[in-house]
Amino acid sequence: MLSQICQKIYQKPVKECTNEELYLALLEMTKKLAKEKEENKGKKKIYYISAEFLIGKLLSNNLINLGIFEEVKKELEENGKSIYEIEEIEPEPSLGNGGLGRLAACFLDSMASLGLNGDGIGLNYHMGLFKQVFENNCQKETANPWIENKGWLTKTDLTYDVSFGNLTVKSRLYNIDVTGYENRTNKLHLFDIESADESIIEKGGITFDKTDIAKNLTLFLYPDDSDKAGNLLRIYQQYFMVSSGAQYILDECRKKGSDLHDLADYAAIQINDTHPSMVIPELIRLLTKEGIKMDEAVEIVTDTCAYTNHTILAEALEKWPLSYLEQVVPQLIPIIKELDKRVRKKFSDKSVYIIDEADRVHMAHMDIHYGHSVNGVAYLHTEILKDTELNNFYKIYPEKFNNKTNGITFRRWLLHCNEELTAYIEELIGSDFKKDADCLEKLKSYTEDEAVLTKILDIKKNKKTELKNYLKATQNIDIDENSIYDIQVKRLHEYKRQQMNALWVIHKYFEIKSGKLPKTPITVIFGAKAAPAYVIARDIIHLILCLQQVINQDSEVSPYLKVVMVENYNVSKAAKIIPACDISEQISLASKEASGTGNMKFMLNGAVTLGTRDGANVEIGELVGEENIYFFGESSEQVIRHYKKSDYSAKQYYVDDEEIKKMVDFIISVPVMKAGDAESLLRLHAELIKKDWFMTLLDIKDYIRVKEIALNDYENRMEWARKMLVNISKAGFFSSDRTIAEYNRDIWKL
Ligand SMILES: *Cc1c(COP(=O)(O)O)cnc(C)c1O
Repeated sequence: MLSQICQKIYQKPVKECTNEELYLALLEMTKKLAKEKEENKGKKKIYYISAEFLIGKLLSNNLINLGIFEEVKKELEENGKSIYEIEEIEPEPSLGNGGLGRLAACFLDSMASLGLNGDGIGLNYHMGLFKQVFENNCQKETANPWIENKGWLTKTDLTYDVSFGNLTVKSRLYNIDVTGYENRTNKLHLFDIESADESIIEKGGITFDKTDIAKNLTLFLYPDDSDKAGNLLRIYQQYFMVSSGAQYILDECRKKGSDLHDLADYAAIQINDTHPSMVIPELIRLLTKEGIKMDEAVEIVTDTCAYTNHTILAEALEKWPLSYLEQVVPQLIPIIKELDKRVRKKFSDKSVYIIDEADRVHMAHMDIHYGHSVNGVAYLHTEILKDTELNNFYKIYPEKFNNKTNGITFRRWLLHCNEELTAYIEELIGSDFKKDADCLEKLKSYTEDEAVLTKILDIKKNKKTELKNYLKATQNIDIDENSIYDIQVKRLHEYKRQQMNALWVIHKYFEIKSGKLPKTPITVIFGAKAAPAYVIARDIIHLILCLQQVINQDSEVSPYLKVVMVENYNVSKAAKIIPACDISEQISLASKEASGTGNMKFMLNGAVTLGTRDGANVEIGELVGEENIYFFGESSEQVIRHYKKSDYSAKQYYVDDEEIKKMVDFIISVPVMKAGDAESLLRLHAELIKKDWFMTLLDIKDYIRVKEIALNDYENRMEWARKMLVNISKAGFFSSDRTIAEYNRDIWKL
């Protein structure tokens, strides 16, 4: 197949083509095959609106979903070429921050794989988030351009006008194919401003004039919002996305025969977190412009829209000052005020108003009142929403609340990233699990089979060697494939508590210094980007990089303990890191991680979780049983009580416990200060003692205790392999196919 295409485009055989040429040939071939599977029939469509789609590289996944990966791989091999080298050529778009954007990408895959009529709607950020590089043990941000002349993005002729008060701009639609696994092709619709101008970005960096909206609107995902101009730009982006999306949806439904009164029979709109919330007033505005009365427009939009909550962190629930909205989207103000008026007429409880006493617009409140469904993303998270954070709303609308525990697409996070494990599972239980993830349960019957357990360990070892080679090639770092790979990769946030893992590294460093050596050496691997304006998060990255250097240079310690910070953690790095993991670090402060999806990817690839009873960890624990997961730390109820009573004092832990004091003080010790920047390290040290808002010191001792048990258990290789196999066999529940089937059954009803 490929050889004909190469003949046609390049007039030469595959073996004479460069990898770049082969990449482009495969791109063309894949797009053509994907097009043949496009279907736009079916009356109702689900539109998944999200400010982020962290899609990752697409070539191999599309080949897998189109059912030709093996064939292409073989044809390339026969010609002395490697699909793995070719896939490195594809640039990775960073159209998301982390879990939320990756979830949206997994959901698109599952919708297409289940044959659902469903498209994504988002923005075409030219530079994505940013590319992280390390300089002087600090994070530095650089632009991450990903759009090339030839790529997955297809320009369309469709344009819309979007108005911001006096400024009207043109929005153009671009599409990316979403191939389903042996099923239909859907689309990811990405809108872009026609007048975007990359030349306004300062060379090598990510700074630009934040006020020049016509030029900057789609250059970056969420630029620094620590100042007013950054906040306004986010509102511009959000409105640009939802106005383009709403116009597109109404057009498409009209074409299919909708008279707009029956919009909810044609469209289901899922609002992914609060970033797209303005789609509600925007749709109402467009419907009333078409002559539909306000009361009915509100009803139509409520029947169409549903909201997913992703966090209970107050600072992440968007509340825009009314004055900002007045400046950016004056046409929405009368509608938002009217919606708020209706709420006030019905309810006396001020906490459910849309516009609060300080004239801030609570986007989530608008979603809950004027959407027909509110879902959390893991069992525990939804319970906390109902009982605590959104309790006042739950009392009004109990029927709207539901849980949809997150999931991951097994095509990317098993079939693609771990071909060896996939092939072995297939050998054991057949291939049904690829479409019906629950079939993985059949692996349970092999938990006493030593040959199977040995093979599972062999595959893990191979993946660890591959990661070792990758880190050597990319960052010139040497790690030992015979060490325990203890991995924490995810966005850097204080609630995720990378700082606690860093303190554990310090603890282990002291132990080794004092002659207490681990039985098996340990490699602690981190990977994380910090938001550019999030100072403490940057300080934590700085600490980890300093520890990496200090330990690496200490010949007493380095044979037993290594710290590695992977640069620019993204989807393709995740695909290389996760299959190699022994211990999956999921140590967020209980009640703070809504779900997590990294935890699911690790489990599926045979890592054992060390974590708190938080997010989907709770469900993982229920599935695998307490003996196959390592839980520690205070419960979400206890943590919520601490916040309520304000009775947590980090200072007390620091003063009362010699061991804690010693670990924390190492941050500002001579060797670490010599490796790093005093201002940053002193700030982090002070933060941990004075504030420690996410209660690192509360759980550190229990963390040390339980991590020691896990490390000890690792020594019994057969017992450990059994835990790995149980984790793999129970991972089926976390397929996003299951999640999407539930969304459709309960919310979209396609
Ligand atoms: C899955 C994934 C995440 C989410 O990880 P969590 O541990 O759930 O926060 C973030 N970034 C990337 C690149 C991912 O693939």
